[in-house]
Amino acid sequence: MPVLDFKEITQANLANGLQDTFEMFARDFFIMLGFQIKEGPDRGQDGGRDLIITEKREGIIGNTEIDWLVSCKHNAHSGRAVLNNDEIDIKGRVEALGAKGFIGLYSTIISSPLGRTLDGLKRYFDVKVFDRELIEKILLENPKGKILAKRYFPVSFSKWEEDHPRPANIFFEYEPLLCKNCGKDLLPQGDGIVVFKEDPETETYVAFLWCCKGECDRILKNKYRSMGYVDAGWEDISDILIPGKYLAWNMAILNRLHEDIDKYNEEAFSSIKRFILRASQMVLRNQNEEQIRRLMSLASLPDYI
Ligand SMILES: [Zn+2]
Repeated sequence: MPVLDFKEITQANLANGLQDTFEMFARDFFIMLGFQIKEGPDRGQDGGRDLIITEKREGIIGNTEIDWLVSCKHNAHSGRAVLNNDEIDIKGRVEALGAKGFIGLYSTIISSPLGRTLDGLKRYFDVKVFDRELIEKILLENPKGKILAKRYFPVSFSKWEEDHPRPANIFFEYEPLLCKNCGKDLLPQGDGIVVFKEDPETETYVAFLWCCKGECDRILKNKYRSMGYVDAGWEDISDILIPGKYLAWNMAILNRLHEDIDKYNEEAFSSIKRFILRASQMVLRNQNEEQIRRLMSLASLPDYI
């Protein structure tokens, strides 16, 4: 079931000043994926030249720059697949511009004959197709994509957001991890600790909290001790923010729950979930660019023919 309604992006051939919206979307989409925009979008320029974008590839002996010709076809309003006739002389256009690859960015799907044509062109240069489904997948799967989706698909995206409030909200804006005692944000440096507080009588975690080391930890320890609760384990936040450790730590929590070793009350359990989500902002942050680039490989043609 499609989530984003591409009809929210104005039809290309209407002379109302919004005619370039799909090309503007294309520009923002490829900037998000890490490309640089070399040319375009140019209003009224026909002959298939919509955008030229540059991909920087880091190599062992230096960086290379590869230009892609991006052809945008916004057929969402008619619902029609992109046909061979819509893409005239792709090879000639790519070569005339000195580009090294062709990208079709389509708000519908491609027809089988065009798919075969593009497949045949792969012996000359790289060919990628981002159709409706793949664009949607990329937009909804990463935080930067969601910001774009919100801008270009305000109606259908907010409807989707209502159905998926938590993950969307978590990632729309940075969510800090404030020390339970002094309110300092512990995430950027990863300084501070997480502590399990346990009720020794019921052997249930009554709190899972995060705080600065030293003074704040001591103050909280005394506060909980006065209520009859004890420390039942702690970890350095900086350790948990290491991707491998983050996964291992999460797995250990799941295993201990599964084996009935750990019991949480409601507050402690929602607290640990909150921590896992907020910590993920740091754990996943450096991987986002690479992850987005990996999504590029999904755009190779054979899956679509
Ligand atoms: Zn503190």
